[in-house]
Order: sequence, then C-alpha cells, then structure tokens
Amino acid sequence: MLNDRKIKKKLVRYTIFFVIISTILVISALCVVYVSRKAENNSHVAYVNAILGEYKLHFSEKIQSDFNTLIAVSDMIEQDYISKEDIINDVLTYFPIHSEFNKIGYYSTDAEYKIITGEKSNIKYEFSNRPEEEKQTIRSAWQGEKAVSEIYIEDGKEMICYAVPTYEDNNIDGALTANICLDKFVNIINSQTLDGIKVNIAWVNRDGDIIKSSEEDVFEGKRAYIIESAWSNKADFYSTSPAVKKIDVVLDKNTYPLYRIEIGQNDWSLVYIDSAGEVTSPVYSAIVMLIVIFGFLMIFCLIVMSYTFRYIKRDKKTILSLADYDQLTQVYNIGEFINQVQELDCNSADYYIVILNFRHFQYINNIFGRTIADKILVETANILMSNLSEDELVCRYRSDEFCMLLQAKDKQTLEKRILNIINNISNISAKLQNEYNIKVYCGISIRQAGSQKALPISDMLNEAEFALKTIKQGYENEIAFYASSVKEKKIFQNEIENCMEQALENNEFKLFLQPKKNLSTNEIIGAEALVRWIRPDGKMIFPNDFIPLFESNGFCVSLDLYMVEKVCALQRKWLEQGKKIIPISINQSKLLFYRKDYIKKLCNITEKYGIDNKYIVLEILEGLVAENIETLNNTIIALREKGFQISMDDFGSGYSSLNTFTNIELDEIKLDKEFLRSIHTGKKQKQMMENIISIANGFGIRTVTEGVETQTQEAFLKSINCDYAQGYLYSKPISADEFESKYIN
Ligand code: C2E
Ligand code: CA
Ligand code: CA
Repeated sequence: MLNDRKIKKKLVRYTIFFVIISTILVISALCVVYVSRKAENNSHVAYVNAILGEYKLHFSEKIQSDFNTLIAVSDMIEQDYISKEDIINDVLTYFPIHSEFNKIGYYSTDAEYKIITGEKSNIKYEFSNRPEEEKQTIRSAWQGEKAVSEIYIEDGKEMICYAVPTYEDNNIDGALTANICLDKFVNIINSQTLDGIKVNIAWVNRDGDIIKSSEEDVFEGKRAYIIESAWSNKADFYSTSPAVKKIDVVLDKNTYPLYRIEIGQNDWSLVYIDSAGEVTSPVYSAIVMLIVIFGFLMIFCLIVMSYTFRYIKRDKKTILSLADYDQLTQVYNIGEFINQVQELDCNSADYYIVILNFRHFQYINNIFGRTIADKILVETANILMSNLSEDELVCRYRSDEFCMLLQAKDKQTLEKRILNIINNISNISAKLQNEYNIKVYCGISIRQAGSQKALPISDMLNEAEFALKTIKQGYENEIAFYASSVKEKKIFQNEIENCMEQALENNEFKLFLQPKKNLSTNEIIGAEALVRWIRPDGKMIFPNDFIPLFESNGFCVSLDLYMVEKVCALQRKWLEQGKKIIPISINQSKLLFYRKDYIKKLCNITEKYGIDNKYIVLEILEGLVAENIETLNNTIIALREKGFQISMDDFGSGYSSLNTFTNIELDEIKLDKEFLRSIHTGKKQKQMMENIISIANGFGIRTVTEGVETQTQEAFLKSINCDYAQGYLYSKPISADEFESKYIN
C-alpha cells in the first residue's frame, strides 16, 4: 500500500542509489582520466621522440649518402680505373649535375688544387682563398678523416663542405671535397613525418645557436631565446633520457618541454619545443572520447534521476491525496492515520492521542456558511500540521474533529503545546475577519514511552474519544485527559446501557418533583418532573449520570415519553381524587424534536389519561435553538397549537440571543442557575437578569429562575419582577408521593 512514509523511504533509497552511482562514475572517470593522462603523457613523450628520431634519421642519412658519394669517387681514383686528370676533367665536371652538390673539388696534399663547379667550369682556386671552415675540413681529410664543415657563406649562399681523403698506394695524397647549399637540409626540416605530421624543428649548433629552423614560428621570434636559455642549463639537459633529451623551459609563465636530439655530426642537434596542441598522440583523442562518454553518462544519469524524483513527487501528490488524504484539509484521513501510527516507533517519549473538536461547529456552519466553516477547518489543519515535530501525525477524524499523535516528555509539556495550538486556532477568526470566538475542546489519551510494541491505536482513540465526551457542553476551550476513574465510569455506563431497557420495564425510573413557586402570590403553582433511577438494591442514580448517555444512545426518547406518561398518570390520579391539578414541566430530549411521530405520541398519552395538554409544560434546552431552528420552530408551533406549553430551559447558559424571543414562540423561559451564582460578582449581572426578565415580560413570556437557595436571592428575584422561582429554598426534588402529600393534599 502506498503511503507517505514509504514514498519517503523510496526517495531516500533513490537518493542514496543516485549518490553511489554518481560517486562511482566520478571516481572511475577521475581514475580513467588520471591513468590515461599518464599514459598519454608517456605516449606523447614517446611520440615526440619518434618524430625527432625520424628527422634525425633524414639528416644523418643525407649526410651519410653525401659522404658515400664522395667516398665512391675517392675509391675510383685510388683504383686508377681512370687517371686523376680524367677524373678531374671529365668525371667531376659532370658530377654535380647528377648529385645535389653545388661544387666538387680536389686538393692534393702538395697544395695543388682544382675545384670543379656544376657548370662544367674547371676553375682553379687557391687553397688559401677558401673559407676557413672549408680549409679545416680539407685538413681533416688530409689527416685521413672524413669531415663536414660548419656553415659558411659564399656568393651570398649558406653552404657546408664535405671532405674525404684520397689515396695513392695506401698513402693519402689529397682530399676530395663537395660543397652543398643548406637549402637541401632546410627541406628536411620542413618535410612531413611518415605520419603526415609537420612540426617546428630547429637545427642548432654546439653553442645553441639556430642554424636553420622551420618557417613557422609559434613563439614569435623567441625560439632562439628559449633554446639559448635551455643551453645555459646544459647540465640538466644532458642528464635526461639517452637518445632524446628533454628539459622544461619557461616562457611568459608557461612551461614548455624542450626536446633535443643529436644529429651525430659536428655536435649539431635538432630541437623541438613542445607547444601545446602541435602534436597530439592518438591516445589523446581516445582520452577525450572517454571523457566525453563519461560526461554524457553523468548527464544521462542526472536526467533519469531528476525525472524519477519529479515523477515520484507528482505521483505522491495525486495518487496519495486521493486515497489517503482528506480532500478538504490535505491532512491524512483516519484510515491512513492509523496505518502511519502503526509504523511509528514511539519509544523515546510519552505519546498521546489528542482528539480536537470544535464547540458548536454546526452553529458556525449555519450562521457563517459552509465556505467560512471549511476555511476554518483548512486553517486549523494548517496550524496542526505546522505544530508537528518528527514522528507526529495529524488527521481529520470526523467532520469537525481532528486527531493527532503527539509526543512529549510529560503531561505539562503536552498541555502547554496544546494550549498554544488552541490559541492559534482562536486567532483564525481574526484572520478570516470574523468576530466569532472559535472555541475547541480536546480529549487526550496517554501512553508511557516504550510501554508496548504495537501501538493499540484503536484503544487510544476510544480513550481519547471518551475523554472528549467527559467535557461538558459549554463555551470554553477545554482539555481532558483520559483517566482510569473515567474508565470506571465507562464500565458503569456500560452496565447502565445493558440494563436500561429492563429497568424501564421494571419501573425503576421514578418520578420526582420539584415545586415551582409564584413569587407574587407565594403559591406553589407547578412542578418540574425530574427522573431518579432506583436500582433494585435501593441505590439511587441521578440523572446527570445517565441522561447524557441516554441522549447519545437514543434511549432518552423512550425515557422522556415514559416520564410524560408518569406525569399524566399522576395528574389523572389527582383529578380522580378530586384534588387540584397543577401544570408539570417535563424535560424533553432534543432527540424527540427530530421525530415525526413526537406530537402524535404526546397527544396519545395525554388523551389516554384524559389530561388537558395545557397542564403539560415541555422544557427544551437552549442548545437546541442553535442546531436546527426551523425544525424546532415548526414543532413548537404544532405543539402549542395542541395546547402544550413550551419552556426554554437553562436560558443564558449558552449563546442565547435576544433573537430567541422573536424567533421562537415560547410560554416560559427558565433562567439558568448560574445567573444567581454570579449576581454577587457585580452590578452588571444583576442588571442583565433584570433586563432579560423585562424583555420577556414585554413579549408576554413567563420567567422562572432556577436554583434559588437563599432568601436574598428570592428577594432580588421579586425586586426584578421574576414570575416564578424554583430551588432548594423551597424544596429539593422529592418523590411524587411526598410531593402529593406536601403540596396537593
Ligand atoms: P435541569 O432541567 O436544569 O434540572 C434542574 C436541576 O437542578 C435538577 O438536577 C435539580 O435537582 C437541580 N436543582 C434544583 N434546585 C436547585 C438548587 O437550588 N441548587 C442546585 N444546586 N441545584 C438545584 P437533577 O434532578 O439532578 O437533574 C439534572 C438534569 O438532568 C436536569 O437539569 C435535566 O437537564 C436532566 N433531567 C432530569 N430528569 C430528566 C428527564 O426526565 N428527562 C430528560 N431528558 N432530562 C432530565
Ligand atoms: Ca429542566
Ligand atoms: Ca435547568
């Protein structure tokens, strides 16, 4: 079954799952990036090494093949296949055309010399006129070494010169030279590698000066400077890997690796400065791909998760609100409340079931309308929700009742919380710009922390409900805790309920009468019928102990009609005995007024005993006025037409308004006992009684004051023109027999 807690759990599980997956993804992405960056780094270095190696190979191959050409000619001279003169005149004349050499020459050790250019010219040069670089090479060849000169300039062209020795009878007799323009080497620098890559290579001499470099210069002319500064750290430079040397150089706060490979001739080197992006190894692309894939995976995960979250949240609102929530107030309904309570762990503090009910909500409904009443409920729900801590719950229990599960360390703490809540609820009126004073009452059931495993929620609800019922009808905020004494009362009530019908049949309900005195004539002019229940064991039970119960279980209907019958029977007896007959007031439960057959039943009884209806005064409770004024009025009019008298009991105990006088056709009002209790507190109370009586008189309504206990009270009532009085001053309620002997005989 779906519920909030489960959804929450699900959300938590999803979140944890999502966090774990994301963490794994991020960690593995970081690992992959780390490992592959390392691999990429290594592979990048290896790749640069390979590229530089390739360039070096082109260089040394070029130099080697040039030497080989010269050595081949030198061999031919030594073997005397042709004469030295022929070689010089014929072969060498044509040679430069077929090789890359610009000039080729022969210098005999005895300083005879001749140099032959490619243009078939046969020019003699002075050895002493040759550039110093060439002379050194020639001298090396005369010493038996093959040599390459450093760069020199001749006819505006940068040149180098090769020289190999020539032999006559195994003795060196001269040097064969070849002069070649540097362009041929520049071509190598500017060529592409086998992979089709072209990088910016510099050809550098032993001092770090650039001989030649590729055309493009990403370092804006600073390359020479970089290489020079690298050369100043030569020691570091040479300490790195054997073939290709690497050193980090800094330019404009950027660090560049500088690679150097020796060509193996004249301490020349090829240098490559690794500016980012120029060379990307294939591994690098693979890493970029991987990172992109991980990125997409993360984004995908995020989308799926956020979708799931939203789906669950929306679902929660729609599905759950239908099944488990009260549609008006959006708090749980009672079914879901019980489910949730059973899942709670109530072991850390005492916990309480609190049922909160509004005083006279029906009245609010009738007077202010459904919309306002609904708003009050919604506002109340909001207040209750906002007062909940963790592991506390609230639900709409019945139409105007809310039920809460609260936790508190003790009763006092809970009471304070509830009073605070009640206070907030009272403030709703102000919020709705409504003058009505909202009042509530609460029934509370309590369990000690950890007192049991599964919460007996149904028991607690019953107890709280019971506590709620112990609160009397009234107009104040009130709270009542369930107590075991109340439970005993409940047991007692159960007993009552079990035997009430039997008791009625057995005539255990006795008619007691309390006289009413006319204050102007001092005569007893009537009586009120009050029921007493005498159990077979003689024990007397007072109406306050069973009337409320009979009101709630409906038995009052039978009892009240039974009392009417008793009264009529008594009056019949008096008539038959030729005694005077006085009107008797009988308390009537409000339940009777909702019964269609009520009037008929009453009339049947009075007819049966032949009693004029005017001797029967029906006492109705003021509270009834608020509930359904129309039904009440119709019934009252019909009753009065039949001749019954109507008295409004407990007038002033509730929210009686002066409208009562105009809205309802009354014969009499009975001012509540509390009026007399309060008159000594001030002038106002006295004045109010006086005014009420005066208004009633004005409408021709009789006034009776209940609970008269002292002469002073009686004197006061006389002074304000109250018609009748009733109370212990004259008599307590006494049995019908006693009444008869005292007042009728
Ligand atoms: P009630 O109709 O307001 O009746 C007056 C109550 O006040 C009676 O209590 C009476 O004994 C008491 N009383 C009378 N004079 C004085 C006085 O001077 N001082 C004080 N302190 N109390 C006085 P009782 O008989 O216990 O009845 C209690 C309530 O039970 C009645 O209040 C009435 O609402 C209800 N009741 C009694 N009999 C019946 C009945 O037959 N049917 C119905 N529906 N309700 C009944
Ligand atoms: Ca009464
Ligand atoms: Ca009364």
